[in-house]
Amino acid sequence: MKNYETINPLQRNIEEIRSEFPVLHQEINGNPLIYLDNAATTQKPASVVESLADYYHRDNSNVHRGVHQLSQRATAAYEEARVKIANFINAEHIHEIIFNKGTTDGINIVAYCFNNKFLKSGDKVMISAMEHHANIVSWQLFGQEKGVGLSVIPILPSGELDMEGFKSMLTEKVKLISVTYISNTLGTINPVREIIKIAHLHHIPVLLDAAQAIAHMSIDVQELDVDFMVFSGHKMYGPTGIGVLYAKEKWLEKMPPAQGGGDMIKQVSFEKTTYNHLPYKFEAGTPSISSAIALGTAVDYIKRIGMDKISDYEHDLTTYLIRELNTINDLRIIGTAKHHAGSVSFVIEGCHNSDIGELLNQQGIAVRTGHHCTQPLMEIFNIKGTVRASLALYNTHSEIDELIRGLKNAIHILK
Ligand code: PLP
Repeated sequence: MKNYETINPLQRNIEEIRSEFPVLHQEINGNPLIYLDNAATTQKPASVVESLADYYHRDNSNVHRGVHQLSQRATAAYEEARVKIANFINAEHIHEIIFNKGTTDGINIVAYCFNNKFLKSGDKVMISAMEHHANIVSWQLFGQEKGVGLSVIPILPSGELDMEGFKSMLTEKVKLISVTYISNTLGTINPVREIIKIAHLHHIPVLLDAAQAIAHMSIDVQELDVDFMVFSGHKMYGPTGIGVLYAKEKWLEKMPPAQGGGDMIKQVSFEKTTYNHLPYKFEAGTPSISSAIALGTAVDYIKRIGMDKISDYEHDLTTYLIRELNTINDLRIIGTAKHHAGSVSFVIEGCHNSDIGELLNQQGIAVRTGHHCTQPLMEIFNIKGTVRASLALYNTHSEIDELIRGLKNAIHILK
């Protein structure tokens, strides 16, 4: 292991932390697993897995509709998870937390509802050039037929948003800005506080895609004054199949529901239906009850470790990762933003990204390769894909040393 100066409190307890993630303790192709694909999904601590099992062992029942004890227990646990999440992001009201399937689902819900209620032909939704496909295609899907177009904030060669370009593009046609907090491909941390402030001066609401930010930094939606925010449970040590849409009460009150079904109604007749109060107006049908409860457990887990400690530790690791990658000949990091989170993409001259990924896998190292659901971004950088290593709180400096060793082996085989 190379020398690194600061000893973060997390680093001292890293073995204890790693022991809470059973999946990390296995061999892949005869080597200890080194999991560096955390931007795709994080591993789950035992407490989250146990929370899922406990629910099915003890409380399994449908929520909100039952008078019997199991249903009451399930409902209480489900609603308690909502409170935990509201506190985690400091929402003003508990009913501003809408459970759904994940970030993609959340963006689709807002795209559908916002288009339906507020947008007309000629209006624009502003996104950025570094958006995940979920934050591009959803707007096309629900806006295109209506004649609502996209306006795209350009990026600089560093992978940072062109903020001057952004300001110059704010016309009265722009009705919503939907941007990512952290780029899943480049690792750029965008200046979302500034974006929201400027947008609000123009009376434009902002949706934040926090899929990559939620597990790595404290987010206070009231302090940010953000209008909508979406994230996925599985990227913050929770289960798959659960996500959150946060929206200010005023937007949720004004928007129509995205789906019809059980739970989202107050009164139904063949002539007319009235909708339930918030948050249920946006939660049609049986939700993913166990996953919502286990997401609450994931929030407990993050709070127990401490988000500030996680951010500091991951910042150290990211700096180390970038420094060590830069020692490899012919390796070029894509995205060199000053404010960089723990997703680092790179290309190696003369080597295809998927060959590198495969050769790393043979050494037990899990990274992601390809376009990372950001094809337009690949076009801007004139590349087909990258290798991406992405970090979480259980990764270590010595795992990064192993990645570097593994990359050198792979290059040696390929060249
Ligand atoms: N937005 C960003 C920035 C992402 O990184 C991802 C997933 O990688 C998504 C949206 C989609 O998340 P999900 O597949 O959990 O809905």
